[in-house]
Amino acid sequence: SELATMMDVPVTKLIGTLMSIGVMVSINQRLDAETINMVAEEFGFSTEYVSAEVQNAITEEADDEVDLVERAPIVTVMGHVDHGKTSLLDYVRNTNVIAGEAGGITQHIGAYNVKLADGRRITFLDTPGHEAFTAMRARGTQVTDIAIIIIAADDSVMPTTKEAIAHAQAANVPMVFAINKIDKPGANPDKIREDLAQMNLLVEDWGGKYQCQEISAKSGLGVDELMEKVLLEAEMLELKANPNRKATGSIIEASLDKGRGFVSTVLVSNGTLHVGDIVIAGTYYGRVKAMFNERNQRVQQAAPSEPVIILGLNGAPSAGDSFHIMETEQEAREIANKRQQLQREQSLRTTKTLSLEEIAHRIALGEFHMLNLIVKADTQGSVEALTDSFIKLSTEKVEVKVIQGAVGAISENDVMLASTAENGMIVGFNVRPSVAAKKLAENEGVEINTYSVIYDAIDDITAAMEGMLDKIK
Ligand code: GDP
Repeated sequence: SELATMMDVPVTKLIGTLMSIGVMVSINQRLDAETINMVAEEFGFSTEYVSAEVQNAITEEADDEVDLVERAPIVTVMGHVDHGKTSLLDYVRNTNVIAGEAGGITQHIGAYNVKLADGRRITFLDTPGHEAFTAMRARGTQVTDIAIIIIAADDSVMPTTKEAIAHAQAANVPMVFAINKIDKPGANPDKIREDLAQMNLLVEDWGGKYQCQEISAKSGLGVDELMEKVLLEAEMLELKANPNRKATGSIIEASLDKGRGFVSTVLVSNGTLHVGDIVIAGTYYGRVKAMFNERNQRVQQAAPSEPVIILGLNGAPSAGDSFHIMETEQEAREIANKRQQLQREQSLRTTKTLSLEEIAHRIALGEFHMLNLIVKADTQGSVEALTDSFIKLSTEKVEVKVIQGAVGAISENDVMLASTAENGMIVGFNVRPSVAAKKLAENEGVEINTYSVIYDAIDDITAAMEGMLDKIK
């Protein structure tokens, strides 16, 4: 019926045409993509598929310049492990308490808002590292206004630092460099400046355009100056929002809480969010029953750049999903259902990643040649042992590749990597996926297999591959 309407032909005629090509359908049956292509062609139409997100995007009207007021910048801290991301976030969080706001920041909700001595505010995304940043960018969401790239002065610009810089540049997010640990005897901040200069990133004190501040995240030395520089950067961005409209924003994180149901941290980017509002985010919706800030205080509303946790959604949206306010619950439900249905159809259509069983099947059809594994384990020794064993399993018909092998829990980044690789799959040894990674894997259709006996892992892949090869013969 929908298709007939789109093509402006009588639905009976469409059903008749379908029957003539051997497809028996009822008026409200959903057709697969191939059938739609075929029948549309019959009627002289060509088809183009728009993603569920695009099709169901909710557009908000633009604001009038006069309604806009300044909003706090949203800042992410990125850098190499151990260079001091957590220490900096903790220091800022704790001194802000001393700076005299009622109630300390008592809970990690994924973001927090601090007030500086002069009353200006900064919102920090409290998920150190660029995993959240990447995850959100993958969903096309730009939450961060400014990135602080932190580099330890007793070390150098590391691969992760470079990656973080590349992410910020790709997202067109201005960077402020924080050269950390200058209290340490071996600190050599000029070496960091030089490392950066070699990457064509000339800092201000060397005549370049990038702001840079020496700090000690441990003692707090230079942190005030760093905040000053962040605010200066923010001023140039002229960040504004209209607090007097329905809220829109992004999901920072979401989880299921035993006592409270689904709990989502949201960051308002425009408008004001109120208790009682009907929120739709991704494929979930609900009326906001209660809101709390990072100080665990119950609040009635959240203004632009203010992070809050909300209770009342009927599921846990993904980090980076945008949220909107609907007039009625029915409207929200309809959009959510439609998005869910389209998501299901789309995942059926575009399964990029495969289970072992499916791989066996594809191999039997002679159309499969590569198995891309991501190996995560608790020790480097296990990573190497597994990687070696897996690679040796390669045959003429199937090449087993380990595209990434590392120590640590299975992260969202691993899932993302697997989802972009051809037939990507994750093997974990004595490690588990994080809750967020698990959820992302479900959404992206990435298979994660975990083991605690090395031979089980090898046996599994061997057996599966042998099974595949048997089928080819
Ligand atoms: P992250 O992995 O980037 O989050 O790094 P952390 O904040 O966990 O810091 C790693 C280690 O460096 C910890 O042992 C910190 O105590 C230490 N550290 C962080 N900042 C400083 C600093 O400014 N001076 C000194 N001496 N140690 C620091």
